[in-house]
This record gives sequence, structure tokens and C-alpha cells, in this order.
Amino acid sequence: MGIVVKKFGGSSVGTPEKIKAVAARVVREKKPDDQVVVTVSAMGDTTDDLIELAKQVTGNTRSREMDMLLSTGEQVSIALLAMALNDLGCPAVSLTGPQAGFRTNSVHMKARITDINPDRVFEELSRGNVVVVAGFQGAAPNGDVTTLGRGGSDTTAVAMAGALNAAVCEIFTDVEGVYSADPRVVPTARKMKEITYNEMLELARLGAGVMQPRSVELGARYGVPIHVRSTFTTEPGTMIREGYTVEEKDFVVRGVTHDLNVAKAAIMGVPDKPGIAFRVFSALAEANIDVDMIVQSIRNTDKKINDIVFTVAKNDAAQTRSILEKVAADLGVLGVVIDEDVAKVSIVGAGMLGSPGMAARMFGALSGAGINIEVISTSEISLSCLIRAERAKDAVNAIHAAFFRESR
Ligand code: ADP
Ligand code: ASP
Ligand code: MG
Repeated sequence: MGIVVKKFGGSSVGTPEKIKAVAARVVREKKPDDQVVVTVSAMGDTTDDLIELAKQVTGNTRSREMDMLLSTGEQVSIALLAMALNDLGCPAVSLTGPQAGFRTNSVHMKARITDINPDRVFEELSRGNVVVVAGFQGAAPNGDVTTLGRGGSDTTAVAMAGALNAAVCEIFTDVEGVYSADPRVVPTARKMKEITYNEMLELARLGAGVMQPRSVELGARYGVPIHVRSTFTTEPGTMIREGYTVEEKDFVVRGVTHDLNVAKAAIMGVPDKPGIAFRVFSALAEANIDVDMIVQSIRNTDKKINDIVFTVAKNDAAQTRSILEKVAADLGVLGVVIDEDVAKVSIVGAGMLGSPGMAARMFGALSGAGINIEVISTSEISLSCLIRAERAKDAVNAIHAAFFRESR
């Protein structure tokens, strides 16, 4: 007997037939004494469609009402999956995020889970029900529904597995595991048997959309092994856990990512004196805008002015522009630029730190493909370059070829 948590993503529950197939799989894999929780996302492209719908009504797609709207997507799939399970003779009950005990802060559209009270889930499990929990949602302290940011159902599943002390959290998706690059962009990408939380977190943070970064963080915090695998086959996928169990780690660079959800922001000709960066970035922090790839460079030593360049998520670009324009007006700078036609390409690997030459190899691959690098940033286990968005696919393929054909 054990507690099992399974999560099925949007493409796995995209049609009524797929929902029935998921129900059949849940029933087939359930051992008599297992207590099973299933988390599901909204069907297919529902979340994108709801966002489009909102854009036809308002310019403000960052509000309490957006969460009210988006949370309906998951509510449809939990009800349908519970019905399909019941029809197969498997008692099942659906719960929204708030009903399942997910409490969050009140930052709409990217709320963070503050705690989980799993009493109701335990109660339903002990009644013999499979519990179908809506991914991606929770309740703010005042009871308002919140959502956890794109890909948030992964986080629901892993957090639930942590709260229930489940042995593993299975993430079922439309690819067979975690690959050395997005397999839809790099056909030669290789599937990994396993990867550490640390490296997966960095891949996810830098654009590998297969897992929401926050879910990997929670997996590490609660020690929940995460098994990423295909909804459509029974092949084992990729295990995400603390360390490597076999000598699978034969490449220094584990993966190449690209992220199109970035915008470059620049505030030009700011006075070269203490407190300016503080002023700019505290205004952005107050608006809950995450900032990355920060570079400050000297524009003119005589005039003592600098340029500050950084990146934000594309959906924060408009708000970033208005914040920077306000700061710019106060400081009397040369100008503000927001450029949405950029992409970030990155390499990730824990061994990179002790391996000189990785940066040179990446830059060589980009230059070989005639791709210009606009901004560079590094972390202990990654290296990222900002390039023109239209060259992202070429860049990932060139970098992948440079690391995965030669480095064995
Ligand atoms: P789901 O709806 O199941 O949550 P997602 O679309 O969120 O599915 O995530 C799966 C997708 O992630 C895959 O279809 C793939 O295109 C993309 N992806 C990006 N990088 C990677 C990677 N390194 N390994 C596997 N998949 C990746
Ligand atoms: N439906 C949400 C999204 O599309 C959450 C998820 O799929 O994980 O982002
Ligand atoms: Mg997803």
C-alpha cells in the first residue's frame, strides 16, 4: 500500500477520448491498496484560449478576475476525469485547489503556495476514492482563487506529493522524459535516465518548459523523487532526484535550452552614482517582476553616465516599460528601450565550473552559425546568451551539436 501522485498535463487530457484513456490508465496501474491522487491541467490549449478571450475584453490581464477565469480550465478537466473514473467502476471525487487545501499568497497569476492542509484529501482517500485535484490553483488568505503561473500544475502535483509523503510524483506528459534539448526543436536530443534537482531546476529556469521551476524546487525541498514520463507509452522516463545512481553523467553539459519568453529592457544614460540600481530594481521588485541577466556598462566616462540592461519575462514587458519610464522621468536619463524580439539560449551542467573551454565552445557554435550575442550571463552551473529570437532554433541546434557530438 502506498500513496501515489500522478499528474497529467494539458495535451494528455486534450479530448474526451484522452480523458477516458487517462482514467483507464489510472485504474490499470492502481494496486488494490494504493491511495491515488491525480492532478490534471486544463484541456489542450484551454489556458491560452482563455487568455486570448480576456485580451478581447480588457488590457488588464494581470488581475484577480484573470485567476477567476483561468482556474475554470482545470475545473472542467477534474470533473470530466472524475466522471470517467466513476464510469469505470473506480470511485473518484474531484476537488478544486482551494478544496484540496492549497493556500497561497495573494499575487495573482503567479501565486506561491504558502501551505497545504491535506485533511480533505486524506478524508476522501480513506473513503476509498481516487482524488482528482485541479492543478495550478489555490486560495489567497482572503479566500480569492489564485493561479500558480504557467505550468503550475507541476507544482500542484509535487507539493501534494510532499504534503502526503508520497514515494514518488509521476509527471505524465507528451514527451518521454527530460531531453538534452527540447526534442521538438532538436531531433537528435537524447533522453536522460536521471537528472539532479539542481540541474533540472536550472534547465527549467532557463526555458525547458517540461517542468515548472518551482515544482523542482519543492521536489528538492521535500525530497520527492519526480518521474517525468510519457502519457502514451509505459516506457520509464527520467527520474529527477538528489544525486546520480549510476554513472549516467557522461557529459559535462547536460542540456541546452532556449527561452522565447524574454524581453530585453534597457535604461540608457543613467547617472553614475550610488543608489540608481537600487531605485530601478526596487521599483520592479515592488511590482513582482523577476529580473535576469543584469549588465551595467559605461556609456561615457566623462559625462559619468551608464547604461543598465536586463531581461524580464515577455508578459512583464509592458509593465516594465511603464516603471522604467517613470524612473527615467525622475532621473532625466537618455531613454528607455524594451525589445521583445530576443531569445535566451543556455547550456546547463554541474560540471561546467571545473571545465574551462565550455564558454568558448558555446560562443564558437554561435559564431559558426553567424549568430550575434547581445548579452551574456553566467551562474555556477549555466551560461546564457541573449540573441535575436528568429535565430533561436538554429542556435540551440548548433550548440547541441557542438556539445553532444564531441564531448563524450
Ligand atoms: P504538459 O501539458 O504535459 O504540462 P508541457 O507542454 O508543459 O506539457 O511540457 C512538455 C513539453 O516541454 C514538450 O512537448 C517539449 O516540447 C517541451 N520541452 C522543452 N524542453 C524540453 C526538454 N529539455 N525535455 C523534454 N521536453 C522539453
Ligand atoms: N493550465 C496551466 C497552463 O497552461 C497550468 C499547467 O498546464 O500546468 O499553464
Ligand atoms: Mg506543463
